[in-house]
Amino acid sequence: MEKPQIWVFMEQRGGVLHDVGLELLGKARELAGSQDATVAALLLGEKVAPLADRLIAHGADLVLVAADPALEPYRLLPYTQVLARACREYEPAILLFGATALGMELAPRLAARLETGLSAHCIDLKLDADGLLLQMVPGWGGGVVATIKCPVHRPQMATVMPGVMQKSGPEARSGRVVHLAVGPDLEVSGPRVLEVHREEPQTLPLEQAEVVVAGGFGIGGREGWQLLEDLAGLLGGAVGATRPPVDEGWAAEGQMIGQSGKTVRPRLYIGVGISGMSHHVVGMEAAETVVAINTDPQAPLLALADIAVVGDYREIIPPLVAELRQRRKGSAAT
Ligand SMILES: Cc1cc2nc3c(=O)[nH]c(=O)nc-3n(C[C@H](O)[C@H](O)[C@H](O)COP(=O)(O)OP(=O)(O)OC[C@H]3O[C@@H](n4cnc5c(N)ncnc54)[C@H](O)[C@@H]3O)c2cc1C
Repeated sequence: MEKPQIWVFMEQRGGVLHDVGLELLGKARELAGSQDATVAALLLGEKVAPLADRLIAHGADLVLVAADPALEPYRLLPYTQVLARACREYEPAILLFGATALGMELAPRLAARLETGLSAHCIDLKLDADGLLLQMVPGWGGGVVATIKCPVHRPQMATVMPGVMQKSGPEARSGRVVHLAVGPDLEVSGPRVLEVHREEPQTLPLEQAEVVVAGGFGIGGREGWQLLEDLAGLLGGAVGATRPPVDEGWAAEGQMIGQSGKTVRPRLYIGVGISGMSHHVVGMEAAETVVAINTDPQAPLLALADIAVVGDYREIIPPLVAELRQRRKGSAAT
């Protein structure tokens, strides 16, 4: 087998692929183009081989499959073991993971096992003239983008949040499937999954909402947060947040938008009491129309907005909510 160079870990649960793997395959294809490298998709689980055609259509030249009952559902130690063995055998130059809960657990463990580096939450990936992976992450409080290289150790590893890269394909392409040897030693010690309980989301998922009303530290507390929920409800949207409201407990972890949270691409994003640090902006800059409300005319989010409103949200949002309620009543009456 030729040596695959750019590997992408494909997250799947019960045979359903996570989109982030397909997004990273698109990026890997782009990187491979400039280097004539091979793109390989790594697929671990029990009955996962039927997914291989889809991965080839989305950009993989090679699908490396490890199929075993011990790999379904996901468990950290067996996955680490299979991946570490494959990396030692085939020596990929680059290995990419989605920065999902699973990827954020598995990638650092594997990097430590292989004694290589890992850049978490990259917002872009490129190759330099020597073919080294340039891993871009917001740094120093989000004011600059730092470029990280891993010149000595292999593989060069990075995680990327879902939604940051664009999926490519599917196209009519050909590729090969290679089955990785899975040893009988996968039942290693460590946590075991006894049962799986799925919690259905109670509200519209942020990533699917066409309108996102996002609140920042400037909201000041739970009382103000209710105003955002009222506004989002009237617009048929969802409420997002920056990191400080999550830290303060006004919003849930799953509502955070940005480098360590979700990436959203709504038709309308309304940012309220948000300064506009790049850690947040990377998660919302693909919104079609951006409205920002801020008391500080110098706030960076105002400069980025299509409609910049300078003022106190407590004076701006209540009349807006009242007007929307009025219109709704009017349209219900006719
Ligand atoms: C490694 C790392 C990862 C991070 N990841 C993320 C991430 O994923 N997402 C994220 O959001 N952050 C993230 N952060 C934090 C990020 O750097 C910023 O600190 C954060 O985005 C700032 O949030 P903010 O704009 O709500 O707060 P602030 O920067 O404090 O801004 C509050 C704004 O509210 C305005 N304001 C105050 N009162 C009012 C009012 N009454 N009406 C209107 N406007 C008002 C102020 O003028 C100010 O501009 C991360 C940081 C690090 C170090």
